[in-house]
Amino acid sequence: ATIARVKAVEEKVGAFNSFDESDALAQAEASDARRSAGKSFGPLDGIPVGIKDNLAVNGQPLTCSSKMLENFVSPYDATCIEKLKSQGAVLWGRLNLDEYAMGSSTENSAFKTTSNPWDLERIPGGSSGGSAAAIAAGQAVLALGSDTGGSIRQPASHCGIVGVKPTYGSVSRYGLAAFASSLDQVGPMARSVKDAAMLLQAISGHDERDSTSYRFEQPDLLAAIESNSGRKWTLGLPKEYFANAENTPAMEPILKAIDFYRSLGCEIKEVSLPHTDYAVATYYIVATAEASSNLARYDGIRYTHRAEKFDAKDSVDIYCQSRAEGFGEEVKRRIILGTYVLSSGYYDAYYLKAQKVRTLIRRDFENAFKEVDALLTPTSPSPAFKKGEKASDPLSMYLSDIYTISANLAGIPGMSLPCGYSDGLPVGLQILGKPFKEDEMLSIANQFE
Ligand code: GLN
Repeated sequence: ATIARVKAVEEKVGAFNSFDESDALAQAEASDARRSAGKSFGPLDGIPVGIKDNLAVNGQPLTCSSKMLENFVSPYDATCIEKLKSQGAVLWGRLNLDEYAMGSSTENSAFKTTSNPWDLERIPGGSSGGSAAAIAAGQAVLALGSDTGGSIRQPASHCGIVGVKPTYGSVSRYGLAAFASSLDQVGPMARSVKDAAMLLQAISGHDERDSTSYRFEQPDLLAAIESNSGRKWTLGLPKEYFANAENTPAMEPILKAIDFYRSLGCEIKEVSLPHTDYAVATYYIVATAEASSNLARYDGIRYTHRAEKFDAKDSVDIYCQSRAEGFGEEVKRRIILGTYVLSSGYYDAYYLKAQKVRTLIRRDFENAFKEVDALLTPTSPSPAFKKGEKASDPLSMYLSDIYTISANLAGIPGMSLPCGYSDGLPVGLQILGKPFKEDEMLSIANQFE
Protein backbone atom coordinates (compact mmCIF):
# COMPACT_ATOMS: atom_id res chain seq x y z
CA ALA A 1 0.00 0.00 0.00
CA THR A 2 2.82 2.41 0.82
CA ILE A 3 4.58 1.66 -2.47
CA ALA A 4 1.35 2.43 -4.34
CA ARG A 5 1.14 5.70 -2.43
CA VAL A 6 4.72 6.62 -3.37
CA LYS A 7 3.90 5.98 -7.02
CA ALA A 8 0.71 8.04 -6.86
CA VAL A 9 2.09 11.20 -5.25
CA GLU A 10 5.88 11.29 -5.51
CA GLU A 11 5.84 13.28 -8.74
CA LYS A 12 4.07 16.10 -6.89
CA VAL A 13 5.77 15.84 -3.49
CA GLY A 14 9.35 14.98 -4.47
CA ALA A 15 10.28 13.60 -1.04
CA PHE A 16 12.74 10.94 -2.23
CA ASN A 17 16.23 11.26 -3.66
CA SER A 18 16.12 7.58 -4.50
CA PHE A 19 13.80 4.68 -3.90
CA ASP A 20 14.58 1.04 -4.61
CA GLU A 21 11.22 -0.66 -4.92
CA SER A 22 12.48 -4.21 -5.35
CA ASP A 23 14.78 -3.90 -2.34
CA ALA A 24 11.89 -2.56 -0.24
CA LEU A 25 9.63 -5.40 -1.38
CA ALA A 26 12.31 -7.98 -0.61
CA GLN A 27 12.62 -6.62 2.94
CA ALA A 28 8.83 -6.65 3.35
CA GLU A 29 8.61 -10.23 2.10
CA ALA A 30 11.32 -11.34 4.52
CA SER A 31 9.27 -9.72 7.27
CA ASP A 32 6.10 -11.52 6.14
CA ALA A 33 7.99 -14.81 6.17
CA ARG A 34 9.12 -14.17 9.76
CA ARG A 35 5.59 -13.33 10.78
CA SER A 36 4.07 -16.48 9.27
CA ALA A 37 6.78 -18.56 10.94
CA GLY A 38 5.81 -16.93 14.26
CA LYS A 39 9.25 -15.32 14.51
CA SER A 40 8.41 -11.65 14.17
CA PHE A 41 11.08 -9.30 15.56
CA GLY A 42 8.51 -7.09 17.26
CA PRO A 43 6.44 -3.97 16.66
CA LEU A 44 8.68 -2.42 13.98
CA ASP A 45 8.95 -5.61 11.93
CA GLY A 46 7.68 -4.88 8.40
CA ILE A 47 7.05 -1.16 8.99
CA PRO A 48 8.34 1.16 6.22
CA VAL A 49 10.77 3.63 7.80
CA GLY A 50 12.02 6.39 5.45
CA ILE A 51 15.65 7.36 5.88
CA LYS A 52 17.02 10.89 5.58
CA ASP A 53 19.73 10.90 2.95
CA ASN A 54 22.49 11.77 5.41
CA LEU A 55 22.45 8.41 7.24
CA ALA A 56 24.63 5.52 6.12
CA VAL A 57 22.89 2.35 4.91
CA ASN A 58 25.28 -0.30 3.68
CA GLY A 59 25.16 -0.60 -0.13
CA GLN A 60 22.80 2.34 -0.61
CA PRO A 61 23.52 5.82 -1.97
CA LEU A 62 24.30 8.47 0.65
CA THR A 63 24.16 11.85 -1.07
CA CYS A 64 23.43 14.43 1.66
CA SER A 65 21.60 16.07 -1.28
CA SER A 66 25.00 17.30 -2.44
CA LYS A 67 26.70 17.09 -5.80
CA MET A 68 29.78 16.25 -3.77
CA LEU A 69 28.36 12.81 -2.85
CA GLU A 70 26.11 12.28 -5.88
CA ASN A 71 27.71 8.94 -6.74
CA PHE A 72 28.73 7.81 -3.27
CA VAL A 73 27.50 4.44 -1.97
CA SER A 74 27.85 3.78 1.75
CA PRO A 75 30.06 0.82 2.72
CA TYR A 76 28.55 0.45 6.22
CA ASP A 77 25.45 0.91 8.37
CA ALA A 78 24.90 3.76 10.82
CA THR A 79 24.22 2.47 14.33
CA CYS A 80 20.58 3.56 14.20
CA ILE A 81 20.21 1.72 10.87
CA GLU A 82 21.80 -1.41 12.29
CA LYS A 83 19.31 -1.26 15.16
CA LEU A 84 16.35 -0.85 12.81
CA LYS A 85 17.52 -3.73 10.64
CA SER A 86 17.82 -6.01 13.65
CA GLN A 87 14.20 -5.14 14.52
CA GLY A 88 12.93 -5.96 11.03
CA ALA A 89 12.02 -2.43 9.89
CA VAL A 90 11.74 -2.00 6.13
CA LEU A 91 14.31 0.68 5.28
CA TRP A 92 12.56 2.87 2.83
CA GLY A 93 14.28 5.03 0.24
CA ARG A 94 16.51 8.03 0.72
CA LEU A 95 14.72 11.23 1.69
CA ASN A 96 15.61 14.70 0.46
CA LEU A 97 17.20 17.35 2.69
CA ASP A 98 18.96 20.68 2.47
CA GLU A 99 22.53 20.00 1.33
CA TYR A 100 24.40 18.56 4.34
CA ALA A 101 21.34 19.44 6.47
CA MET A 102 22.07 23.15 6.16
CA GLY A 103 18.80 24.97 5.77
CA SER A 104 15.17 25.22 6.77
CA SER A 105 13.28 24.57 3.53
CA THR A 106 14.99 21.80 1.40
CA GLU A 107 15.59 24.56 -1.14
CA ASN A 108 19.33 24.07 -0.55
CA SER A 109 19.19 20.50 -1.91
CA ALA A 110 21.41 20.17 -4.98
CA PHE A 111 18.76 17.98 -6.61
CA LYS A 112 15.27 19.42 -6.00
CA THR A 113 12.98 21.20 -3.57
CA THR A 114 10.46 18.94 -1.87
CA SER A 115 6.89 20.25 -1.80
CA ASN A 116 4.72 20.55 1.28
CA PRO A 117 1.86 18.04 0.83
CA TRP A 118 -0.58 20.53 2.43
CA ASP A 119 0.16 23.13 -0.27
CA LEU A 120 2.50 22.18 -3.07
CA GLU A 121 3.55 25.81 -3.60
CA ARG A 122 5.09 25.83 -0.15
CA ILE A 123 8.24 24.40 1.36
CA PRO A 124 7.97 21.40 3.71
CA GLY A 125 10.50 22.91 6.11
CA GLY A 126 14.00 21.61 6.54
CA SER A 127 16.42 20.28 6.61
CA SER A 128 14.52 16.98 7.11
CA GLY A 129 11.86 18.17 4.66
CA GLY A 130 11.80 14.94 2.64
CA SER A 131 11.21 12.91 5.81
CA ALA A 132 8.36 15.15 7.01
CA ALA A 133 6.69 15.38 3.59
CA ALA A 134 6.91 11.62 3.01
CA ILE A 135 5.09 10.92 6.26
CA ALA A 136 2.49 13.65 5.73
CA ALA A 137 1.78 12.35 2.21
CA GLY A 138 1.53 8.72 3.34
CA GLN A 139 4.73 7.70 1.51
CA ALA A 140 6.30 6.32 4.69
CA VAL A 141 4.87 5.27 8.02
CA LEU A 142 7.83 6.48 10.04
CA ALA A 143 11.06 8.28 9.18
CA LEU A 144 14.42 9.19 10.60
CA GLY A 145 15.60 12.77 10.50
CA SER A 146 18.49 14.66 12.02
CA ASP A 147 18.28 17.85 14.04
CA THR A 148 21.19 20.26 14.47
CA GLY A 149 19.15 23.41 15.02
CA GLY A 150 15.56 22.34 14.43
CA SER A 151 15.73 20.16 11.34
CA ILE A 152 13.37 17.53 12.73
CA ARG A 153 11.01 19.79 14.66
CA GLN A 154 10.49 22.60 12.14
CA PRO A 155 9.58 20.38 9.14
CA ALA A 156 7.39 18.28 11.47
CA SER A 157 5.60 21.49 12.42
CA HIS A 158 5.19 22.60 8.79
CA CYS A 159 3.91 19.20 7.65
CA GLY A 160 1.57 18.50 10.57
CA ILE A 161 3.41 15.51 12.04
CA VAL A 162 5.33 14.62 15.21
CA GLY A 163 9.12 15.06 15.29
CA VAL A 164 11.48 14.45 18.21
CA LYS A 165 15.00 15.71 18.78
CA PRO A 166 16.38 13.50 21.54
CA THR A 167 18.78 14.60 24.29
CA TYR A 168 22.31 15.05 22.92
CA GLY A 169 24.16 11.77 23.45
CA SER A 170 21.11 9.51 23.62
CA VAL A 171 21.10 8.38 19.97
CA SER A 172 24.40 7.40 18.35
CA ARG A 173 25.74 9.72 15.65
CA TYR A 174 27.86 6.93 14.17
CA GLY A 175 26.99 6.84 10.46
CA LEU A 176 25.29 10.25 10.43
CA ALA A 177 27.12 12.58 8.02
CA ALA A 178 28.45 15.20 10.44
CA PHE A 179 27.29 18.81 10.12
CA ALA A 180 27.95 20.28 13.59
CA SER A 181 28.99 17.41 15.82
CA SER A 182 28.22 19.02 19.18
CA LEU A 183 24.65 19.78 18.07
CA ASP A 184 23.62 16.94 15.69
CA GLN A 185 21.14 14.30 16.85
CA VAL A 186 19.23 11.63 14.92
CA GLY A 187 15.56 11.39 15.83
CA PRO A 188 12.16 9.93 14.93
CA MET A 189 9.40 11.47 12.81
CA ALA A 190 5.92 9.95 12.84
CA ARG A 191 2.20 10.55 12.61
CA SER A 192 1.56 10.05 16.33
CA VAL A 193 3.38 10.50 19.62
CA LYS A 194 3.29 6.77 20.35
CA ASP A 195 4.75 5.91 16.95
CA ALA A 196 7.54 8.41 17.53
CA ALA A 197 8.15 6.94 21.00
CA MET A 198 8.40 3.44 19.54
CA LEU A 199 10.92 4.52 16.93
CA LEU A 200 12.96 6.47 19.48
CA GLN A 201 13.05 3.43 21.75
CA ALA A 202 14.37 1.39 18.83
CA ILE A 203 17.28 3.68 17.97
CA SER A 204 18.47 5.13 21.29
CA GLY A 205 21.11 3.78 23.65
CA HIS A 206 24.82 3.94 24.32
CA ASP A 207 27.19 3.18 21.44
CA GLU A 208 30.92 2.90 21.91
CA ARG A 209 31.48 3.98 18.30
CA ASP A 210 30.26 7.49 19.16
CA SER A 211 32.48 9.05 21.81
CA THR A 212 29.77 11.55 22.78
CA SER A 213 27.20 8.81 23.31
CA TYR A 214 25.98 8.62 26.90
CA ARG A 215 25.39 5.65 29.19
CA PHE A 216 21.86 5.93 30.52
CA GLU A 217 18.82 3.82 31.28
CA GLN A 218 16.08 4.49 28.73
CA PRO A 219 12.78 3.64 30.41
CA ASP A 220 10.10 1.86 28.40
CA LEU A 221 8.67 4.92 26.67
CA LEU A 222 5.27 3.47 25.76
CA ALA A 223 4.77 2.18 29.31
CA ALA A 224 5.77 5.60 30.68
CA ILE A 225 3.23 7.31 28.40
CA GLU A 226 0.51 5.05 29.80
CA SER A 227 1.47 5.42 33.43
CA ASN A 228 1.81 9.22 33.16
CA SER A 229 -1.51 9.68 31.36
CA GLY A 230 -3.29 11.41 34.25
CA ARG A 231 -0.33 13.37 35.60
CA LYS A 232 -0.74 17.10 36.16
CA TRP A 233 2.47 18.77 35.09
CA THR A 234 3.96 22.14 35.80
CA LEU A 235 4.60 23.65 32.38
CA GLY A 236 6.63 26.77 31.69
CA LEU A 237 6.06 29.44 29.07
CA PRO A 238 9.35 31.24 28.34
CA LYS A 239 8.25 34.86 28.22
CA GLU A 240 10.88 35.71 25.58
CA TYR A 241 9.20 33.24 23.19
CA PHE A 242 5.80 34.87 23.60
CA ALA A 243 6.86 38.51 23.46
CA ASN A 244 5.21 39.02 20.07
CA ALA A 245 2.21 36.76 20.60
CA GLU A 246 -0.50 39.34 19.77
CA ASN A 247 0.96 40.02 16.33
CA THR A 248 1.64 36.43 15.36
CA PRO A 249 -1.31 34.65 13.70
CA ALA A 250 0.29 31.22 14.12
CA MET A 251 0.18 31.81 17.89
CA GLU A 252 -3.54 31.17 18.15
CA PRO A 253 -3.42 27.35 18.03
CA ILE A 254 -0.44 27.44 20.43
CA LEU A 255 -2.38 29.49 22.98
CA LYS A 256 -5.35 27.13 22.61
CA ALA A 257 -3.07 24.16 23.26
CA ILE A 258 -1.78 25.85 26.41
CA ASP A 259 -5.39 26.38 27.53
CA PHE A 260 -6.00 22.70 26.95
CA TYR A 261 -3.18 21.79 29.38
CA ARG A 262 -4.63 24.26 31.86
CA SER A 263 -7.99 22.52 31.52
CA LEU A 264 -6.30 19.21 32.39
CA GLY A 265 -5.23 20.74 35.69
CA CYS A 266 -1.61 21.43 34.74
CA GLU A 267 -0.03 24.47 36.32
CA ILE A 268 1.11 26.96 33.65
CA LYS A 269 3.90 29.24 34.78
CA GLU A 270 5.78 32.05 33.11
CA VAL A 271 9.55 31.51 33.13
CA SER A 272 12.45 33.43 31.65
CA LEU A 273 15.25 32.32 29.34
CA PRO A 274 17.12 35.64 29.41
CA HIS A 275 19.78 34.79 26.83
CA THR A 276 17.30 33.85 24.09
CA ASP A 277 18.18 36.94 22.04
CA TYR A 278 21.72 35.64 21.55
CA ALA A 279 20.76 32.13 20.46
CA VAL A 280 20.68 32.65 16.67
CA ALA A 281 24.06 34.40 16.62
CA THR A 282 25.61 31.81 18.93
CA TYR A 283 24.25 28.92 16.91
CA TYR A 284 25.45 30.28 13.57
CA ILE A 285 28.96 30.71 14.98
CA VAL A 286 29.20 27.30 16.65
CA ALA A 287 27.46 25.41 13.83
CA THR A 288 29.45 27.00 11.01
CA ALA A 289 32.75 26.56 12.88
CA GLU A 290 32.12 22.84 13.33
CA ALA A 291 30.81 22.51 9.77
CA SER A 292 33.92 24.12 8.29
CA SER A 293 36.02 21.52 10.08
CA ASN A 294 33.74 18.53 9.38
CA LEU A 295 33.44 19.32 5.68
CA ALA A 296 37.21 19.44 5.20
CA ARG A 297 37.07 15.69 4.51
CA TYR A 298 35.28 16.27 1.18
CA ASP A 299 38.45 16.92 -0.72
CA GLY A 300 38.00 15.36 -4.16
CA ILE A 301 40.65 12.77 -3.33
CA ARG A 302 38.96 9.98 -1.45
CA TYR A 303 35.27 9.37 -2.07
CA THR A 304 33.81 12.62 -3.31
CA HIS A 305 33.18 14.48 -6.52
CA ARG A 306 36.46 15.20 -8.32
CA ALA A 307 36.77 18.05 -10.81
CA GLU A 308 37.76 16.93 -14.30
CA LYS A 309 40.06 19.88 -14.82
CA PHE A 310 42.73 20.83 -12.32
CA ASP A 311 46.36 21.77 -12.35
CA ALA A 312 48.13 18.43 -12.01
CA LYS A 313 51.29 20.13 -10.74
CA ASP A 314 49.44 21.79 -7.86
CA SER A 315 47.94 19.33 -5.37
CA VAL A 316 45.90 22.08 -3.68
CA ASP A 317 44.18 22.87 -6.97
CA ILE A 318 42.40 19.52 -7.04
CA TYR A 319 40.80 20.33 -3.66
CA CYS A 320 39.86 23.83 -4.75
CA GLN A 321 38.32 22.87 -8.08
CA SER A 322 36.48 19.85 -6.69
CA ARG A 323 35.08 21.76 -3.72
CA ALA A 324 34.12 24.73 -5.91
CA GLU A 325 32.11 22.40 -8.16
CA GLY A 326 30.80 20.00 -5.52
CA PHE A 327 29.43 22.31 -2.81
CA GLY A 328 26.37 24.53 -3.18
CA GLU A 329 26.11 28.18 -2.24
CA GLU A 330 24.82 27.77 1.32
CA VAL A 331 27.45 25.17 2.17
CA LYS A 332 30.18 27.45 0.89
CA ARG A 333 28.75 30.37 2.85
CA ARG A 334 28.96 28.31 6.03
CA ILE A 335 32.47 27.03 5.37
CA ILE A 336 33.63 30.61 4.83
CA LEU A 337 31.85 31.87 7.97
CA GLY A 338 33.11 28.97 10.05
CA THR A 339 36.68 29.33 8.84
CA TYR A 340 36.53 33.03 9.65
CA VAL A 341 35.28 32.61 13.25
CA LEU A 342 37.95 29.96 13.92
CA SER A 343 40.83 31.94 12.44
CA SER A 344 43.51 33.24 14.77
CA GLY A 345 42.75 36.84 15.62
CA TYR A 346 38.99 36.27 15.49
CA TYR A 347 38.79 33.05 17.51
CA ASP A 348 38.47 34.83 20.88
CA ALA A 349 36.07 37.44 19.61
CA TYR A 350 33.66 35.01 17.96
CA TYR A 351 34.12 31.31 18.63
CA LEU A 352 35.24 31.52 22.25
CA LYS A 353 32.61 34.15 23.02
CA ALA A 354 29.94 31.96 21.42
CA GLN A 355 31.00 28.99 23.56
CA LYS A 356 30.62 31.13 26.67
CA VAL A 357 27.18 32.34 25.64
CA ARG A 358 26.26 28.74 24.89
CA THR A 359 26.94 27.92 28.54
CA LEU A 360 24.71 30.81 29.62
CA ILE A 361 21.93 29.50 27.37
CA ARG A 362 22.27 26.06 28.92
CA ARG A 363 22.08 27.56 32.41
CA ASP A 364 18.91 29.43 31.46
CA PHE A 365 17.29 26.04 30.87
CA GLU A 366 18.75 24.52 34.03
CA ASN A 367 17.22 27.37 36.02
CA ALA A 368 13.86 27.11 34.29
CA PHE A 369 13.73 23.36 34.92
CA LYS A 370 14.09 23.97 38.66
CA GLU A 371 10.57 25.40 38.47
CA VAL A 372 8.83 23.39 35.76
CA ASP A 373 8.71 19.89 34.25
CA ALA A 374 8.84 21.09 30.64
CA LEU A 375 8.44 24.17 28.48
CA LEU A 376 5.77 24.92 25.89
CA THR A 377 6.64 27.18 22.95
CA PRO A 378 5.84 27.62 19.27
CA THR A 379 8.08 25.48 17.01
CA SER A 380 8.37 28.10 14.29
CA PRO A 381 7.42 31.77 14.02
CA SER A 382 5.16 31.10 11.02
CA PRO A 383 3.57 28.19 9.16
CA ALA A 384 5.24 26.88 5.98
CA PHE A 385 6.27 29.74 3.70
CA LYS A 386 6.13 29.84 -0.10
CA LYS A 387 8.97 28.40 -2.16
CA GLY A 388 11.40 31.16 -3.04
CA GLU A 389 10.10 33.50 -0.34
CA LYS A 390 13.26 33.39 1.77
CA ALA A 391 15.66 31.60 -0.55
CA SER A 392 17.60 34.73 -1.45
CA ASP A 393 17.67 36.09 2.10
CA PRO A 394 19.78 33.75 4.26
CA LEU A 395 19.47 35.99 7.30
CA SER A 396 15.68 35.83 7.41
CA MET A 397 15.98 32.06 6.94
CA TYR A 398 18.41 31.88 9.90
CA LEU A 399 16.15 34.02 12.09
CA SER A 400 13.24 31.62 11.60
CA ASP A 401 15.19 29.05 13.67
CA ILE A 402 14.80 31.20 16.79
CA TYR A 403 12.59 28.78 18.80
CA THR A 404 14.40 25.55 17.96
CA ILE A 405 18.14 26.17 18.10
CA SER A 406 18.49 26.80 21.85
CA ALA A 407 17.58 23.19 22.58
CA ASN A 408 20.55 22.01 20.49
CA LEU A 409 22.90 24.50 22.13
CA ALA A 410 21.72 23.26 25.56
CA GLY A 411 21.61 19.56 24.55
CA ILE A 412 18.06 19.12 25.87
CA PRO A 413 15.29 17.11 24.17
CA GLY A 414 12.60 18.86 22.16
CA MET A 415 9.70 17.86 20.00
CA SER A 416 7.06 19.33 17.75
CA LEU A 417 3.47 18.21 17.94
CA PRO A 418 0.65 19.24 15.57
CA CYS A 419 -1.69 21.54 17.53
CA GLY A 420 -3.95 23.19 14.96
CA TYR A 421 -3.99 25.30 11.81
CA SER A 422 -3.39 28.83 10.69
CA ASP A 423 -4.96 29.66 7.30
CA GLY A 424 -5.32 25.95 6.63
CA LEU A 425 -1.64 25.20 7.28
CA PRO A 426 -0.48 23.03 10.17
CA VAL A 427 1.08 24.64 13.24
CA GLY A 428 3.36 22.82 15.68
CA LEU A 429 3.58 23.14 19.44
CA GLN A 430 7.11 22.66 20.73
CA ILE A 431 7.71 20.86 24.02
CA LEU A 432 11.19 21.16 25.52
CA GLY A 433 12.08 18.66 28.22
CA LYS A 434 14.73 18.00 30.83
CA PRO A 435 17.82 16.10 29.64
CA PHE A 436 17.11 12.36 29.30
CA LYS A 437 13.46 12.92 30.30
CA GLU A 438 12.05 11.97 26.90
CA ASP A 439 9.56 9.78 28.80
CA GLU A 440 8.05 12.88 30.44
CA MET A 441 8.17 15.00 27.30
CA LEU A 442 6.40 12.31 25.25
CA SER A 443 3.85 11.75 28.01
CA ILE A 444 2.98 15.45 28.01
CA ALA A 445 2.65 15.36 24.22
CA ASN A 446 0.43 12.30 24.31
CA GLN A 447 -2.00 13.96 26.70
CA PHE A 448 -2.69 16.55 24.00
CA GLU A 449 -3.26 13.97 21.31
N1 GLN B 1 18.00 25.53 9.91
C1 GLN B 1 19.15 25.25 10.70
C2 GLN B 1 20.39 25.42 9.87
O1 GLN B 1 20.26 25.75 8.74
C3 GLN B 1 19.07 23.89 11.30
C4 GLN B 1 19.51 22.82 10.40
C5 GLN B 1 19.52 21.48 11.07
O2 GLN B 1 18.97 21.30 12.16
N2 GLN B 1 20.20 20.53 10.44
O3 GLN B 1 21.48 25.24 10.31
